[in-house]
Amino acid sequence: MAQDCSFSTRHKLTGERDKFRWTLNSSGTFSVRSMYAALINNGVRVSQDIWQVKIPSKIRIFLWYLKRGVILTKDNLARRNWNGDKSCAFCHCPETIQHLFFHYTYAKFLWSAVHLMFGLPPPLSIDDLFVNWSKRGSKLYNSLFLTAASVLCWTIWITRNEVVFDKCRPNFFFADSIPGNLLAAAMGKAAAA
Ligand SMILES: [Zn+2]
Repeated sequence: MAQDCSFSTRHKLTGERDKFRWTLNSSGTFSVRSMYAALINNGVRVSQDIWQVKIPSKIRIFLWYLKRGVILTKDNLARRNWNGDKSCAFCHCPETIQHLFFHYTYAKFLWSAVHLMFGLPPPLSIDDLFVNWSKRGSKLYNSLFLTAASVLCWTIWITRNEVVFDKCRPNFFFADSIPGNLLAAAMGKAAAA
């Protein structure tokens, strides 16, 4: 009965023809993005800031998976009954998002370099990265911080993938673009962290 009452207050019957309305976005019209979000994210709205930042779509989707903690690091693969070696591609610690993006020496080095160059303290975790680190200014600045975060995380991820899948030696190409004196300082800072 309560359901009938709520139906009657939400829907007004008129003499007009029925119309189809897409309910997965506020405009009521179909969009691929809303469909994609509904299929993959079980209808939970995708973080707007990630969708609005101007980065290639594949990195945007990677960032979204990273934020949700579901990128295919070895601990997440193990949760899906994968039985391979769970150690990190670079060292012998168990590979987790926290280890790969924040605790591993290369990650610490990258965040330390950013700290030395721009004064931004290294993020502590995925939550810290998305909730605090990339939200410290105006909308424009936040977009730039999120772009920077995406570049750094993507760099770590593709370097890891090259080592895991292509059996390459780690090519820390990002390090080449950092001036020598800063490089040494960042390495010292990362080692001490
Ligand atoms: Zn490691």
